[in-house]
Amino acid sequence: MKITILGAGAMGSLFGGLLAEAGASVALLDINQQHLDAIRHNGLRLDTDTGSRCITQLASARPEQWTDVPDLLMIFTKTHQIAAALTSARHLIRPTTWVLTLQNGLGNVEAISAFVPRDRILVGVATIPADFLGPAHVASHGGGQIRMGHAGNSALTDHPGHRPFNDCCMLCQVVDLFNRAGLHAIADPNVWAAIWEKVAFNAAFNALCAVTGCTVDQIALVPSAPILALAVVEEAIAVAHASHIPADLERTQAMVLRSFTTHAGHQPSMLQDINAHRPTEIDSINGAIVRTAAAHNLPVPHTGMLYTLVRLIEARTNNDVILSGGPPRLFAAMHAISRAEVEGPPEAACPLPASPL
Ligand code: NAD
Repeated sequence: MKITILGAGAMGSLFGGLLAEAGASVALLDINQQHLDAIRHNGLRLDTDTGSRCITQLASARPEQWTDVPDLLMIFTKTHQIAAALTSARHLIRPTTWVLTLQNGLGNVEAISAFVPRDRILVGVATIPADFLGPAHVASHGGGQIRMGHAGNSALTDHPGHRPFNDCCMLCQVVDLFNRAGLHAIADPNVWAAIWEKVAFNAAFNALCAVTGCTVDQIALVPSAPILALAVVEEAIAVAHASHIPADLERTQAMVLRSFTTHAGHQPSMLQDINAHRPTEIDSINGAIVRTAAAHNLPVPHTGMLYTLVRLIEARTNNDVILSGGPPRLFAAMHAISRAEVEGPPEAACPLPASPL
């Protein structure tokens, strides 16, 4: 199978390296020129639990320079980089091309379907970790799994592109190839439940760690912090249920509690992004939950507060000008808050807007 990976950072390089080792023809496309040059000159160094080795059978290029049309285009940019990346790789998408996303967050299929019909998109979730150590050098330690399915296969019966689960031999081929590459993969008819469970987990941990600077295990230092994490998970799973996605609350909360020991010392990528003054994926994680909750009239106060705080840190570190020309709802909320400060707690006469988000 001819595979092109668009966004060859930590995850893209890891998957590309392992798939090339398994015999697939793989091209890594990225805009990090130093990384591309280092792969071209020295190959990709891959450190995993099975050892450190150099993979040389990988092509690498900038998206606009690559012309070989793949069978499968895997997108592994950050979620907010999807549109720019696919714009520069548009010439690689033909009616026969499949696109796979295993990115975190929600809204990725919608962003990709601006470029590819939804019935050519495979979607999933990966719990395999990857770290970018430097140009042409990535590492992955500890296990994980990939669950994937057809993007049209959702619990939402009115989903566009809905089709029977087994009606997709490309899905089976990709799962088979991934397993040969040591990437533990399964085809999952409930893939949207798995996606929402990971989003719920990320909404709790990534945002809490990004706001506090804590590693995952440090969140357990104060008893009320794990309770806050579990409250975020509960809100997110309630939103999934309102969207007819059968995500499992107990399983997700158990995953949260387990990670205090299994992810000890780990800095989630959102904290790493904040520390490096890069945009985070908050909008497709907490932001997407807040927006979906609003559509169902569901309150998600803990998720919404973390969303606002991370957005505020991003705005401060990126020097965004957020007040000039702000949306009317923002000014309405500010007006209501200043009135409340002057007049004291309202008797019920002046309700604050539920959320200015
Ligand atoms: P990363 O930042 O290491 O890699 C993203 C890559 O995309 C970078 O190399 C960047 O240069 C490239 N890129 C950005 N804009 C581009 C463009 N216009 N064209 C081509 N390439 C472009 O991120 P990552 O850690 O590999 O994560 C990728 C996705 O996988 C994210 O959604 C993340 O949440 C998810 N994920 C990551 C992990 C992990 O452990 N790293 C685990 C599970 C899921």
